[in-house]
Amino acid sequence: FVDEIESGAPRPRRALTAQQARRHGGAFAGQLAVVTGAGSGIGRAVSFELAERGTRVIAVDIDEDAASRTAYLCGHLTPGSDFRKVDVGDAEAMEKLAAWVRSEHGVPDLVVNNAGIGVAGPFLETSERDWDRVVRVNLWGVVNGCRAFAPLLVDAGGGGRIVNTASAAAFIPSRVFGPYATTKAAVLMLSRTLRGELAGRGVSVTAVCPGLINTGIIDNAHLSGMGKETAAKKRLNRLYRLRGYTPEKAATRIVNAIENDPEIVPVTAEAHLGLALSRFAPKA
Ligand code: NAD
Repeated sequence: FVDEIESGAPRPRRALTAQQARRHGGAFAGQLAVVTGAGSGIGRAVSFELAERGTRVIAVDIDEDAASRTAYLCGHLTPGSDFRKVDVGDAEAMEKLAAWVRSEHGVPDLVVNNAGIGVAGPFLETSERDWDRVVRVNLWGVVNGCRAFAPLLVDAGGGGRIVNTASAAAFIPSRVFGPYATTKAAVLMLSRTLRGELAGRGVSVTAVCPGLINTGIIDNAHLSGMGKETAAKKRLNRLYRLRGYTPEKAATRIVNAIENDPEIVPVTAEAHLGLALSRFAPKA
């Protein structure tokens, strides 16, 4: 297990640099965060960034090994981190998660509803099953997270934050990312609506909108009607590598930004994301 961690994931930094020590005294020091999709990509990098700033992280993922690896590494940065295997699309499991977090660790200060999957393809090529899959994780996953944790944050008397991961795709019509982008536009509006509703009750809600971030999302994606799956993934991964941010860079931007409680955090490297994506549209 340790060998696996040492070979695959970023190594924990055991001694703090002077800069990190200063950050430890910042807004996230001594806080408790729940991060979904914490086993990989942006969620993992956000977990490390938070732990580096003195936050205990509860790493949640459907992939139990990945969640435990993240929690293990976070624990080296800030002791007291933990993990849970949960499918965010399962409302009951998310309610149980919230109850477990409260009883074992206390009410979280920050809930990052980040778990998401890529299901893409031109509309006429996508099936009901494609839509079910992506809506269940990307939209219901965030709804379930907000429904399970918002009451805890409100009851705690305010001061909590909810951060939902939408996407730059929420703003950009694309013949490729339709189902995915539709769920992300919904997450964006859910976040904006909830922000208004909870503002008077001391809980802030922020939507994060990353552009291309070089993570495992394409490898794990389900692509319909985009030609041979491996070739399509290879082309998309190349685009992400060339144009995207690393998850670490995205995480630093996200955590820096949410400290100021904005409504929306854009995290994009590319000025012409729509144009870049349109290169992958199937020929008309
Ligand atoms: P990723 O595939 O690297 O990580 C996603 C994680 O979510 C994985 O660890 C996976 O196991 C987990 N997960 C998937 N389904 C789950 C479920 N049902 N329950 C619990 N966990 C589940 O992808 P990523 O790029 O880090 O994506 C994180 C978020 O950022 C997603 O919401 C994604 O839509 C969003 N996003 C990513 C990009 C990008 O370019 N990578 C751009 C915009 C938005």
